[in-house]
Amino acid sequence: MIMILIGPPGSGKGTQAQRLEQRLGAVHLSTGNLLRDEIAAKSSLGKTAETFMNSGQLVPDQIAVEVVAEHMKRGEPDTDYILDGFPRTTNQAEELDRILEERGLEVGTVVEIHTNDEVLMERLTGRFACANCGEGYHKSFKRPKSDGVCDKCGGVEFEVRSDDREETIRDRLGVYHSETAPILPYYAKKGLLVRVDGEKAMGDVTKEIETILIDGR
Ligand code: ADP
Ligand code: ZN
Repeated sequence: MIMILIGPPGSGKGTQAQRLEQRLGAVHLSTGNLLRDEIAAKSSLGKTAETFMNSGQLVPDQIAVEVVAEHMKRGEPDTDYILDGFPRTTNQAEELDRILEERGLEVGTVVEIHTNDEVLMERLTGRFACANCGEGYHKSFKRPKSDGVCDKCGGVEFEVRSDDREETIRDRLGVYHSETAPILPYYAKKGLLVRVDGEKAMGDVTKEIETILIDGR
């Protein structure tokens, strides 16, 4: 099945997708992660993507569609996917339908993780990660057990994602409202959209999404 998680930056969709991947045996496909991999690999696609990402803008649709199509081409045709961060524009949603149609597939369920902007600002301005293993932390919600030392690997260096600065965060939220939220009606019309409350505790949100995916709507 093809599941889509849609939510603003900071709604927890990446974390939820990771958890669901383990529990449902589906493949978590995050365009943000794939693009960051391209940047790390210094590919030409990565170089183009980097300027957009660092300023909080979306990368051009063509680039996002290409990384998803490439990734799906490499997988088995019957793979279940959890899409995180894609589609992010109406054009991408239409392109996704085309990619899936070629493989005889269609979107199964779309979950919107709804969260208010003030809550998102608070969450996003405190995020940081271990520079060594990538484990994610937050200055108010999830500090390392021992200050300055990564719980997972013992690393002592931390980094803030380059697009997690306050001005950039505002831009990313603006982009979500203007570009991404308009695709919600696209899926609602098809009867595929379900909304969950992203302000609840992470574990409760996971349970709610699992119930939706396993028991149907
Ligand atoms: P978040 O949802 O917290 O913003 P992501 O890792 O999903 O984090 O995305 C980070 C950035 O990657 C976005 O701000 C955007 O620049 C780029 N990006 C990710 N997915 C897409 C996409 N489908 N279309 C265009 N740009 C994308
Ligand atoms: Zn670490």
